Amino acid sequence: MTPRLTAQISESVWRALLDESEKSGEPIPTLLDRVLATAFELDRHTLFQVSTSNALVQGVFGGAVTVGDLRRNGDFGLGTFEDLDGELVMIDGVCYRATGGGVVTSPADDAPVPFAVVTHFHPDRSTTTEFGTLADLTAAVDAIRPSENLFVGIRVDGRFARLALRAACAAEPGEGLLEATAHQSEFDVVDEVGTLVGFWAPTYARAVNVPGYHFHFISDDRQLGGHLLAMEAGTLEVGIHIESELHVAIPETEEFLAADLSGDHQEALHQAETAEHRSGTG
Ligand SMILES: [Zn+2]
Repeated sequence: MTPRLTAQISESVWRALLDESEKSGEPIPTLLDRVLATAFELDRHTLFQVSTSNALVQGVFGGAVTVGDLRRNGDFGLGTFEDLDGELVMIDGVCYRATGGGVVTSPADDAPVPFAVVTHFHPDRSTTTEFGTLADLTAAVDAIRPSENLFVGIRVDGRFARLALRAACAAEPGEGLLEATAHQSEFDVVDEVGTLVGFWAPTYARAVNVPGYHFHFISDDRQLGGHLLAMEAGTLEVGIHIESELHVAIPETEEFLAADLSGDHQEALHQAETAEHRSGTG
């Protein structure tokens, strides 16, 4: 349960809160939480990332941190598991692994993780809108994102009429991301209530993260999940969490240290992470 606060405050503080809420569009409780967190210098807007997207493209799939490490650095996020064996979704502080066909299991705290992005999520801005497709959803998030140069975490709750998902299956030794995701499990889900856990990353971050949008789905009953390729939905609640700091945990594994990460792997990354490979040869 989220703690509730009832307090008497001065007229001037109340007026300042109303003014700021009007200006920023944030509800008073959200605003209050943010202002108090800042006053106490709580680390609320750090994106904690493990490894880099380029390393993932290069097939650096060995565990660098554990699920427990992730949970110490956030309560919300996404990623993958060792050998690319499943999709990682963290929501409300609990970590899940979605495998072939979307089947969800609970990884142990010592499960190794080669790549992930987590944060302490609380909505800085939110909106409720009628959506159609993934493009409509991203357009709505675009409208409330403050800048092209800030990472944001995105939480989307509601009923989804259709979801096209995938779950990466364990890579063969020597495979890169593109080869490994060519034999991933893809499946459609119809009429499911749940949450999209997502991030938007700026173009300048592209050697490190997946630029643009990246969403993983988890059902309300936590039985079904995967990496989002496409969707159709009605009314959804959308919240974004603005990240002002980026902490990258660079794996000190032999595999990472020896990898050649000098190249630009945008094309391969885009192909592996979106639905576009469906119309391609892979
Ligand atoms: Zn993913």
